[in-house]
Amino acid sequence: MSLWIGEVVANFLVAPDIYRMRLRVDIEEPGPGQFVHLRCGLRYDPLLRRPLSIHDFDMDKGEIELLYRVVGKGTAWLAARVPGDKVSGLGPLGRGFILPSGKTLALVAGGIGFAPLFFLARKALALGNRVIFYLGVRSREHLLRQKDLAEFGVQLEIATEDGSAGFPGLVTDLLAAHLRNLRFDGIFACGPKNMLAAVAGLAATYSIPAQVSLEEHMACGLGACRGCAVPVYREDGNVTYENVCSEGPVFPAHRVVWKPSWR
Ligand SMILES: Cc1cc2nc3c(=O)[nH]c(=O)nc-3n(C[C@H](O)[C@H](O)[C@H](O)COP(=O)(O)OP(=O)(O)OC[C@H]3O[C@@H](n4cnc5c(N)ncnc54)[C@H](O)[C@@H]3O)c2cc1C
Repeated sequence: MSLWIGEVVANFLVAPDIYRMRLRVDIEEPGPGQFVHLRCGLRYDPLLRRPLSIHDFDMDKGEIELLYRVVGKGTAWLAARVPGDKVSGLGPLGRGFILPSGKTLALVAGGIGFAPLFFLARKALALGNRVIFYLGVRSREHLLRQKDLAEFGVQLEIATEDGSAGFPGLVTDLLAAHLRNLRFDGIFACGPKNMLAAVAGLAATYSIPAQVSLEEHMACGLGACRGCAVPVYREDGNVTYENVCSEGPVFPAHRVVWKPSWR
């Protein structure tokens, strides 16, 4: 982990409210599922850094790519950056996905959960895996980088909630239909919590190991403040708390307590 100042190389709108940024940075090689913690404003406004997944990494150019949805003050500030601007960052942070080699894998992304899974798909293919990428979005204008994924050799399966492209409905319904006939060695998912819970349920039904990337509001990003701690099962079945920032954001799906009793 390191603290750095990155230089914006490109920052452009790719879908409604979604931007893709390339940052030149001097950092150690990140793994898929890791994130950077960015200062998104001037004079500590907003005070806390904002976590964004590494969408891709180019070792030769020394650049990371980010894919982010503008939802508030920090991401709006980021969207206004132009080439040459500087951004302060921490990272790469967190524990990412653990990839096998030579297996058949299902990657399941919901909405902006696509961000880390793009990098994961590229790495999974490099390790000789077959990748079937399930991408769920609200409607077709939110579909991203289909051509890039096809060029890598990924089999892309699309679901749109409004039925404007691919399977009409939820991406987890599409996955459920495929699981009746296809056998996967692993499932890797990132997206809204209810989507991840549904993926975890399917993985348990079909006895497939699954890894999920969780999102929580976080402050320090380093495991010190415990602001992002979530309940997870220990080996003995009892519940403990682990930090999404330092012990995650990726967890084995069977360890996550999907419905804490107090919520
Ligand atoms: C490990 C990790 C990786 C992430 N990767 C990405 C990514 O690659 N691309 C992307 O677009 N977003 C990603 N996020 C979510 C992103 O960090 C938040 O959208 C961002 O911090 C919002 O900042 P803001 O100042 O623009 O919005 P705020 O003004 O802080 O909040 C606006 C809205 O977003 C919600 N929000 C803020 N932070 C979070 C959070 N951490 N989790 C869930 N909801 C939040 C708030 O509740 C509020 O409704 C990631 C989050 C985590 C924890």
